[in-house]
Amino acid sequence: MAIEDLANCHPKLIRGQVWCHECGNTQKVNSGNALANGWPKCCGYTMSLDSPEERAHFEQVQAADESDPMRTY
Ligand SMILES: [Zn+2]
Repeated sequence: MAIEDLANCHPKLIRGQVWCHECGNTQKVNSGNALANGWPKCCGYTMSLDSPEERAHFEQVQAADESDPMRTY
């Protein structure tokens, strides 16, 4: 698959925005370019395609999962 196709098939790649979860910095990226040349880094880490809200939700789901393994979503 061409890099351009990959960049156009994933919602977070189409959005083209990354976040640093260390300092809260956010940046617009060209996903095709980033896939080819590497993602921007901040605070020593590769910046994330997940927004802080999405990441918080993910951690909540994980925490709920651990406290109640029978829970279904
Ligand atoms: Zn940072």
